[in-house]
Amino acid sequence: YFISFEGIDGAGKSTHVDAFRNLMQERYPDKEVVMTREPGGTTLGEKLRTLLLDAPMNLETEALLMFAARREHLAQLIEPALEAGKIVISDRFTDASFAYQGGGRGLSLDKLNALERWVQGQPDGSLLQPNLTILFDLPGEVAEARRSKARAPDKFEKMDLSFFERVRQEYLRRAKEDPKRFHLVDATQTPEAIWNGLKQIQIAI
Ligand code: C5P
Repeated sequence: YFISFEGIDGAGKSTHVDAFRNLMQERYPDKEVVMTREPGGTTLGEKLRTLLLDAPMNLETEALLMFAARREHLAQLIEPALEAGKIVISDRFTDASFAYQGGGRGLSLDKLNALERWVQGQPDGSLLQPNLTILFDLPGEVAEARRSKARAPDKFEKMDLSFFERVRQEYLRRAKEDPKRFHLVDATQTPEAIWNGLKQIQIAI
């Protein structure tokens, strides 16, 4: 069973993802729960993450490296874990590429769809996607106010407000397109209220 966490920077996703992992492990004591992240998740993926978050680069290069890291992540970690019946939780997955490189930076949907098909395409023609995507949604200006109080920004977190609004809108468009996969969290709520909501999520394992 594959779960991804998504949202614009400053939405509070990282605060909850570890707690959710522990919740899953308590609920399913006989299953191994694997926690991972993107970009990253493998030795090569973590190296690519450092490059991606630090170095300004051409938009196509950025998207190709994100998907290269994802291909490695799927081959080395996600696919074997799912085949072994484990629960995989990833802090970001492909929706982030659509939101950031597509919505945020303007890469065409055609190119993103082609990369997604290449990297996640299955022999039967389907796409490997998370079974559940938990999307932390909140307005760009609320996220920006929260970010400025937190850690030093990486290159994406230095973008302007309209960038984050476009990222948000692309996440919401993806969620609308696939409502069965997405669980929307109103991230303007208090952390306690968000956590109470997350505890209500039932997954069909
Ligand atoms: O979630 P986390 O803060 O670890 O993500 C690292 C950074 O990479 C974030 O600023 C995020 O916006 C960015 N990112 C991106 N495109 C992706 C995945 C992450 O721009 N496909």
